[in-house]
Amino acid sequence: MRTCAKMRCDSEPVATVSLLYAERVVSIGELLAERDRNLLDLCRDHVERMTPPVGWTVHDERIISIPDSPALAV
Ligand SMILES: [Zn+2]
Repeated sequence: MRTCAKMRCDSEPVATVSLLYAERVVSIGELLAERDRNLLDLCRDHVERMTPPVGWTVHDERIISIPDSPALAV
């Protein structure tokens, strides 16, 4: 079973986190369909509690879908 990447945590992951070293960005994305060992799959708790290294910024790239939102008027 796929679990959170944090040690001693066996919760179900909800997001995939990538560390972009060149840009010093922690990117939080939708959970990938397949596990990539270069990336971190984290559970909800650990995503929320995650703190970036000093000098890094966090980009939350997840799509927040709002059910029943009206289509944009054209
Ligand atoms: Zn966790």
